[in-house]
Amino acid sequence: MITRSPATLQRVIPTQASTDTPGWQAQLSGAVRDPHVLLDRLKLDPNWLPGAERGHALFEVRVPEAYLARIRPGDPADPLLRQVLPLNAETDSVRGFVSDPLEEAEHSPHPGLIHKYPGRVLLIASPTCAINCRYCFRRHFPYSENSPSRAQWDEVLNYLRVDPSIQEAILSGGDPLASSDKRLAWLVERLDEIPHLKRLRIHTRLPVVIPDRIDDALLGWLNATRLQKVVVLHINHANEIDDAVVDACARLRSTGATLLNQSVLLRGVNDDVETLATLSERLFEAGVLPYYLHVLDPVTGAAHFDVPDDEAIALVDALREQLAGFLMPRLVREVPGENSKTPLGG
Ligand code: SF4
Repeated sequence: MITRSPATLQRVIPTQASTDTPGWQAQLSGAVRDPHVLLDRLKLDPNWLPGAERGHALFEVRVPEAYLARIRPGDPADPLLRQVLPLNAETDSVRGFVSDPLEEAEHSPHPGLIHKYPGRVLLIASPTCAINCRYCFRRHFPYSENSPSRAQWDEVLNYLRVDPSIQEAILSGGDPLASSDKRLAWLVERLDEIPHLKRLRIHTRLPVVIPDRIDDALLGWLNATRLQKVVVLHINHANEIDDAVVDACARLRSTGATLLNQSVLLRGVNDDVETLATLSERLFEAGVLPYYLHVLDPVTGAAHFDVPDDEAIALVDALREQLAGFLMPRLVREVPGENSKTPLGG
């Protein structure tokens, strides 16, 4: 085993944003939130604007600068743009597409807590995201009813404390890392105190969309917890992984966290074998294991991203011909009421 000196580690894993880059909080609050500005900045045809405004009225546009910089200007088919550009198609009412496709409201015993699967619970640690993904299954989620006060967090923590079958706490949102380190450190310290908890899982897109989020303060509370750490990233296309994202992944791994990725199979973004193969290769180069490839959850406003099951299964069969087994994500669907994700195909 090669042991690196601290000086070498410092070079490989920078821990601070450069001084001329705004901090992550400023990047978060400075995200583009106006469809007109988005089209203008990306030199897109203004004819897209009326549709973009209609989609924006349903689910606000939000794109941080660090993500915007990875989108090719003037290309309406750019796979990163398609994930963030509101479209008129979002106003379509399509049979089978609903506001709460996973029926999460039925599994929420307390505000901020979702308990769907045995052994693990999901905590809504932040009501906001750094980016608004147009296909998000929580685009209609009632975050205002799920932003616990300290007293409500105490109720949530007590729910975990009295149920020894719960071994894993999953921080979700929104994006949990959109919350401050002070709040997250407080919450994780409380989780640390629950003896039967073994794992802390964090579902986040922030290391991808604002890589500077993975700073010393965040590494501090992650390093301090006794819980085993799993960070599940959400990356759909290899173009999302630039050098800054690779560095952010290295910083996360330096805490001992296992890094996994889940993608959503999206029409016009990653619905071809070459794109999915390149994504798996690039993830592994960044030290992230491909984990799940989700078929789209049928949420109102996202039907234009849908890839039918037979096509999804054929794609994954073809992908399996190209990739080593450890690079293969599992094709799954989340079915309300089931105890785990439902695999599709072989
Ligand atoms: S970051 Fe995740 S939770 Fe937030 S909008 Fe995108 S898919 Fe939804």
